[in-house]
Amino acid sequence: MKKQHVVIVGGGLIGLSSAYALLRDGHQVTIIERDHLGAGAATGNAGELTPQQVAPLASPNTALDVMRGVFTRSSYLSIDALRLPALAGFGLGFIRASGKRGTARGSAALAQFSGEILPAMHRMAADGIDISGGGEGYLMTCSEEGALQAAHAGYQRRADLGWGEAPGRILRDAELAAHEPTLDPGVTGGFMLPAEFSLDPVTFVASLAEHVRAAGSDVRIGLTAERLGAGASVECRNEVSEPVTITGDRVVVAAGAWTTPFLKRSGIRSTAVVSGKGYSFTVPVETMPSTLIHAMDRHCVAIPMHGRLRIVGMMEFDQRPTRMNRDRFDVLTRAAAGLITGGDWENRTDEWVGPRPMTADGMPLLGRVPGRADVIVASGHNMHGLSLGPVTGEVVADLVANRVTQVKGKNLDLTPFAVRR
Ligand SMILES: Cc1cc2nc3c(=O)[nH]c(=O)nc-3n(C[C@H](O)[C@H](O)[C@H](O)COP(=O)(O)OP(=O)(O)OC[C@H]3O[C@@H](n4cnc5c(N)ncnc54)[C@H](O)[C@@H]3O)c2cc1C
Repeated sequence: MKKQHVVIVGGGLIGLSSAYALLRDGHQVTIIERDHLGAGAATGNAGELTPQQVAPLASPNTALDVMRGVFTRSSYLSIDALRLPALAGFGLGFIRASGKRGTARGSAALAQFSGEILPAMHRMAADGIDISGGGEGYLMTCSEEGALQAAHAGYQRRADLGWGEAPGRILRDAELAAHEPTLDPGVTGGFMLPAEFSLDPVTFVASLAEHVRAAGSDVRIGLTAERLGAGASVECRNEVSEPVTITGDRVVVAAGAWTTPFLKRSGIRSTAVVSGKGYSFTVPVETMPSTLIHAMDRHCVAIPMHGRLRIVGMMEFDQRPTRMNRDRFDVLTRAAAGLITGGDWENRTDEWVGPRPMTADGMPLLGRVPGRADVIVASGHNMHGLSLGPVTGEVVADLVANRVTQVKGKNLDLTPFAVRR
């Protein structure tokens, strides 16, 4: 294979994972990042790497949440009504994808990656990248009996299809409380997903960034990519607004929630990627839960992470990817306070907001741009950019090398992830 110079726009989870895989293949890599490596949504997330949960957000259950999200600020999902005209296309696509058939199709497309999520992450770990800070097994909780049973059956079905390990049996009331004594007594049902994994994204991203720097990538901090230039070049502005052009043999666009404006400025039509902001904070607790707790009905996650407890949740559409709306912390705190006992909710630290790169149908954009064979887009990973990051990096390296990606001996079908679909 001829070695290439690959220019990557964006030094977040996908840009760094792509850089890692490309450097491993012996390519030369330049990363264009306007802020710092790991800006965007890379570090404040829940740290979940989860073969069982890689599925679109849109489902028959979430269509109603979208309606609620427009009219109330007390829901985990909120949509700024003033931005509705701009979000209308995305919203309609989301509702279209919420049907049973769309959900099943989307889940099957994403599940192609399930078998490689943990192996790809372990390949990084074998190379010295830090995947510490979390551990194995999630406790999934839900106090609505019907939803609990439906979720359990859904995970069992996925396991039967080979999309992850089977869930443990359902635990209720006293048995659940004995299993996880830090749960609030109001939490009445749950089960383990024993094989899912979590890590600390702060140390993971720092170690990945250090690795790609040490492996020789040229990291151009403070450069904002404005548009694609001719061939495989990227036109940028530096911190004092001077034009800078970076030219390589290939360009990988991994600009997360900022991908669509960049492609538009480059004259490329694509499926829209919009920002779905999430929030997190650290809370002091009397006793640390023994595993990650994912509250399906409360739409929040409590994650023991290197000895601190991180709380994560919310999905906010307001088209302002970096704006922190403080009322979201109150909603998230109320949700988490009904999940875990002994939290000192007044003394939250590490408050953080980050934009998930959302697509209406939940599918990432992963492939070459039609008519621009030198340009690859790797973006729109929704709630799964950490789960799918390491394996996405490998797919990008395969695309650069004109190799077909195989997962468990089967060719990966990239059609559902076409840049324009
Ligand atoms: C609250 C929350 C919890 C989450 N939990 C999980 C989880 O548990 N598991 C999981 O798998 N995923 C999770 N995610 C999703 C995951 O964080 C994202 O899918 C992932 O970060 C997307 O990676 P990315 O590289 O596409 O974007 P980002 O990580 O956001 O990186 C994009 C980068 O591109 C840079 N950039 C953008 N435009 C330009 C430009 N024009 N010029 C130069 N640089 C540019 C940005 O500064 C940024 O550094 C969560 C997200 C949130 C918000």
